[in-house]
Amino acid sequence: MNVETKRAGRMTRQRRIVMQILEESQAHLDADSIHALARARDEKISLATVYRALALFKQRGLIEEQRLGEGHGHFEKAQDTPHYHFTCSQCGRVIELEDHQVLELARRLFTDQGLQVETIQLLVSGRCGECQENQA
Ligand SMILES: [Zn+2]
Ligand SMILES: [Zn+2]
Repeated sequence: MNVETKRAGRMTRQRRIVMQILEESQAHLDADSIHALARARDEKISLATVYRALALFKQRGLIEEQRLGEGHGHFEKAQDTPHYHFTCSQCGRVIELEDHQVLELARRLFTDQGLQVETIQLLVSGRCGECQENQA
């Protein structure tokens, strides 16, 4: 049993399928999309099972839930360094943003105002380059 399996609790076959989908995907999938992909591999997987697996993986720090300006969350495999997201309001594309400027903001809040930042939730949305071009 590897470390990852231990952290995820008992890795049932259906949970493993959910984890595999997140590991293979470069996208930011919501629960419905994960469910659709999971059913292609095991048609008996219910949406409730997908939700339970996601909640468990999130609790164990294996995945992250991102709020991308919609009512529901999007999921991705946890990454070593924090990153943020730009969502295109027109085509829905999600672009990952580097974090050094956000870290700079946290550093400045500390040096200027003595605030110790623990979490930052940043939602950036607008129109991606392609959508701007199509409009022109
Ligand atoms: Zn776009
Ligand atoms: Zn991301």
